[in-house]
Amino acid sequence: MRVLILGGTIQASQLAHRLSTDEGYNTVFSLAGVTKNPVLPTVSVRIGGFGGAHGLRVFLRDQGVGAVVDATHPFAAQMSRHAAMACARSGVPLLRIDRPVWTEVEGDQWTHVSGIDEAAAALGDAPQTVFLTTGRKDLGPFQRASQHHYVLRSIDAPEPSSLPQNVMLLLARPPFTVASEMALMKNHAIEVLVTKNAGSEATSAKLAAARNLGLPVIMIDRPILPLAETASTVDEALLWLQKHRHAGTDRDV
Ligand code: NAP
Repeated sequence: MRVLILGGTIQASQLAHRLSTDEGYNTVFSLAGVTKNPVLPTVSVRIGGFGGAHGLRVFLRDQGVGAVVDATHPFAAQMSRHAAMACARSGVPLLRIDRPVWTEVEGDQWTHVSGIDEAAAALGDAPQTVFLTTGRKDLGPFQRASQHHYVLRSIDAPEPSSLPQNVMLLLARPPFTVASEMALMKNHAIEVLVTKNAGSEATSAKLAAARNLGLPVIMIDRPILPLAETASTVDEALLWLQKHRHAGTDRDV
């Protein structure tokens, strides 16, 4: 069965790796092309947008795709919407890998906000030293909240023109440990952490570090995504694929 994996997460790469060892699957792995040196799986890879939901439909048809796994980042809402539309119209089964959200535990001081603009507003008027881990895009609201000092961490460097005025840039790739996150927060005299609720184990250490240091967190809640079948783990996604592969084989006989 030809499977399209929409990538961008660790789960996407893990799933591609697992499928690469099974002759029953012919996998194509797709990335938007936003990360400069992505770690690529050993299956066929395509990079760049499809040209909207219509472009994706054409791709599904031309490539004879029998199932799509949307394993994009939980904040890549447009791609998830396009996948839902294209699969519904093409009759191709779609599964989304939805990592569980991070939830507050005792000792956490989270302020929930619904987007980047609200996150910047929640920092308030008084200058603070902010640990910004929301990625290298959408920095405009923080650029405008120029009273704060930002310690911005991302995998690739943001466009210089998009950076806030008072910024220290840290380039690093997850995973991170609680000890290293605590050291970073202490060394930079961080007063508040801003993060998206990505739900990834590789980046969750910052939450425990903030809790241990008694620091507040501004938590950007996830965007609402279209209804879809979901799996929370790669193993569940494999079971779902097996089910659809067998259904396809039964139909072919
Ligand atoms: P987005 O806003 O949902 O998507 C913007 C456009 O990028 C899509 O309409 C699509 O272009 C293209 N695209 C996105 N993911 C793609 C994929 N896997 N394969 C082919 N085209 C893709 O997404 P985004 O927030 O820009 O994120 C882009 C990528 O970075 C995703 O793969 C995501 O998993 C990863 N990422 C995002 C975040 C985040 O916070 N948003 C964080 C970490 C990683 P067309 O309409 O032309 O098809």
